[in-house]
Amino acid sequence: MRDTETLHAWDRRYFWHPFTQMQDYGDDDPWIIERAEGNYLYDMEGRRCLDAIASLWCNVHGHRHPRLDAALVEQLGKVAHSTALGASHPPAIRLAKALVEITPASLRHCFFSEDGAEAVEVAIKMAAQYWGNLGRPEKRLFLTLDNAYHGDTVGAVSVGGFPLFHGIYGHLLFPTLRLPSPYVLQWDACSGNPERATAAWLTTLESILKNQGGEIAALILEGGVQGAAGMLPFPPGILAGAQRLCQTYEVLLIVDEVATGFGRSGKLFACEWESVEPDLLALGKGLSGGYLPVAATLAAEHVFAAFLAPFGESRQFYYGHTYTANPLACAVALENLALFAEGAVLAALPDKIARLQAGLRRFSGQSWAGEVRQFGLMAAIPLRDPGTGAAYAYGDRVEYAVCRRARAMGVYSRPLGDLITVVPPLSVTATEIDTILSVLYAAMAEGRY
Ligand code: PMP
Repeated sequence: MRDTETLHAWDRRYFWHPFTQMQDYGDDDPWIIERAEGNYLYDMEGRRCLDAIASLWCNVHGHRHPRLDAALVEQLGKVAHSTALGASHPPAIRLAKALVEITPASLRHCFFSEDGAEAVEVAIKMAAQYWGNLGRPEKRLFLTLDNAYHGDTVGAVSVGGFPLFHGIYGHLLFPTLRLPSPYVLQWDACSGNPERATAAWLTTLESILKNQGGEIAALILEGGVQGAAGMLPFPPGILAGAQRLCQTYEVLLIVDEVATGFGRSGKLFACEWESVEPDLLALGKGLSGGYLPVAATLAAEHVFAAFLAPFGESRQFYYGHTYTANPLACAVALENLALFAEGAVLAALPDKIARLQAGLRRFSGQSWAGEVRQFGLMAAIPLRDPGTGAAYAYGDRVEYAVCRRARAMGVYSRPLGDLITVVPPLSVTATEIDTILSVLYAAMAEGRY
């Protein structure tokens, strides 16, 4: 057997993949990535594909970036891992300082973890313990949004709003209070009017805070767009209004910028669009440029201060993993921040975002596409059955067929429910944006699913 066939057989037999129905995994064309370069992935057969989903929204500067590779190799020559529990190392110290310096001014301290969901778990536990440490244990509820997605761990799913997950794992989850999705509110109840939607949403938030604020620990929001729910952007004013009300009613504001952080929104952090200064900020994905698992929860001074006390009072934050603040990941993340600090990456974004926006127009009005959505350098095109105008039934896997066809044409995308997604590395070029969109157009328009 050729190498690919052997590996494919082992892959199916031994490797249980995430979010994957293993019964038919890889029945079609197997997709085993052997290497990558810049914005391209290469499979075992040497077939090249543009990485239109940035390796699940995390790759920033392209694959095998010489500076990131060098930073990793250099750190490898020193130490690959040593614990952060009560001990330290230079890359994590420098990274914590750098993150405090570049995130909104309210955030003064940095707690490391490995993945986005964990950065959220940390924020949840910090918020819960914060109120306990302040002698207000009755503030224990979390306020969240319908359609929210914050990751797959039990705490992150609890504050998420995906009916599928709440059905399957419901009995494991802690109860939350819920607000409507601002996007859904805008389009379902406010005729698409953004000002009305923001006003209505903030009125609902205020009435909950007025009635139950005394029992609420924190409100958690994604950074201006509900990404995993289908790229549902918030109307302007949601984040800033939420911050104002949270301050008034003494509720912590957690902003989850795991998906939107590190340039995806067009600014380094989406909070910057409305000058939002949260109490807690969750970061992940692009923090290491898409190289290694490292995540961070940034905390405001008053949050950090509530954990300071003589040792015996047990107010320290009881959380930490074996690989927390891994030196290799921190060293690469530092180099990622150095690349951002040079300015060219962010300066190039407005043109790329505009190019994406212009290119997406051709999908509007097509019988096989729904309303296209975009937030910065991320977009989603809903696939529709031209016969009925509706989404295909869950389980038909028509979106997978479209992505498979796009892959055969050299563009790697992944469906998100009924959506075909475009979330390229920030290093994508204008020509590559055009290629991605024309290939997806061809793959979707072909119509024989
Ligand atoms: N929060 C948001 C907003 C996300 O989009 C994601 C992942 N897409 C997560 C958290 C979870 O991150 P991870 O997959 O790294 O756990």
